[in-house]
Amino acid sequence: MKTCILLLAAVLVAVAHVCESVRFGPLCSGNPSNTRRTSDSWGQGHYGARRGSRTHKGLDIVCLDGATVYAPFDVTLNGKVIVYTDPAKAAINNGINLSGAGLCFKLFYVRPDRTSGTVRKGQRIGTMLPMQSVYPGITSHVHVQMCDKSDPTHYF
Ligand code: ZN
Repeated sequence: MKTCILLLAAVLVAVAHVCESVRFGPLCSGNPSNTRRTSDSWGQGHYGARRGSRTHKGLDIVCLDGATVYAPFDVTLNGKVIVYTDPAKAAINNGINLSGAGLCFKLFYVRPDRTSGTVRKGQRIGTMLPMQSVYPGITSHVHVQMCDKSDPTHYF
C-alpha cells in the first residue's frame, strides 16, 4: 500500500511537471509579465470573448504601438499571417506564424523582422503595429492564437 501511494505521488508530480513546463516568455517590451488585455470600449481580450456573432479565438497580451516583440521560446518562423481582408485595417494587417516548445501558434498585429529561420527566446522578432490608428482607445495588444484555435491561456 505504501509503495502504491509513493508511486501515485510520483506520477502526480510527473503530470504536474508536464502541465507546467510550457510557458510563454515575455512577448512585448514594456510588459515583462505578459499582462493581458482585460476590457475596453472595443471588447475583452480573453479567449472565447464575444465578437459580435463570433467568438475570440485567441488571447490578447498588452503591447504598446511600436513596441518590440520578442520570441517567447526558441522558435522557428513559419511565414507571415494575413489577419484581415478589410483594406481599412491595412495598417495592422500583419503577423507571424511560429512554432516552438512543441506548440504551433500565430501572433497578430506584428510586423515581423523576418518570416523564416529560427530565433532564440527573448530575441526580437518584430514590431507592434499602430493599433490605435485602426481602433482608437483600444488596449493595444498582440493577439496570440494557437494554430488549432485551442485555448492558449494555460500557457501564460
Ligand atoms: Zn485578440
